[in-house]
Amino acid sequence: MLTEALQVLKRGGYKLTKQRKSMLEYLSRFKHQYVDIKTIDAHMRKIYPTMSHNTIYRNIKEFEELGIVETRRKAGGASVKYQCDFDNVHHHHFICRNCGHVQEIQMCPLEVFADQLPGCLIEDHRFELHGLCANCQRKLAKV
Ligand SMILES: [Zn+2]
Ligand SMILES: [Zn+2]
Ligand SMILES: [Zn+2]
Repeated sequence: MLTEALQVLKRGGYKLTKQRKSMLEYLSRFKHQYVDIKTIDAHMRKIYPTMSHNTIYRNIKEFEELGIVETRRKAGGASVKYQCDFDNVHHHHFICRNCGHVQEIQMCPLEVFADQLPGCLIEDHRFELHGLCANCQRKLAKV
C-alpha cells in the first residue's frame, strides 16, 4: 500500500528514514479519514521519544508538498490524511459530518469561478462538500 508514497519520496530525492517510513505506515491507515496533526505527533513520539515536534511537523509538510498526504486547516489546528488518489492528486472531497468519512470528488469547479473573475489570477483554492454519507443516512434513519 505504501509503494506509491515510497516511489514519490525516492523521486523527490528524499531518504527513507525509519521514522519517515513508520510515519507513512501510520498515515496510510487514514486514507478516508482525517486525523488530527496532534494525534500523529503523539503517536510518533510514543515510538520515537527523541523525535522532536519540529521534525514531525516538517515531515508532514514535506509529505504534503510531495502530494503524499492531504492537509486540511481549521481554527482548531490542521488535520492530515493519506493521499487518496496518487494518479489524480488535485481533487476535492465530500466529508461526512457524522462519521468523518472522506470521499473523493474528481471534478474541480475552478473554471466556473475563473469565468466570473476576468483578468484575475487565482493562485489557490479550497473546495469541500459536507453532509451525510449514504451509510450514516441509513443509520440515522433507523434510530
Ligand atoms: Zn483526497
Ligand atoms: Zn458517514
Ligand atoms: Zn480544484
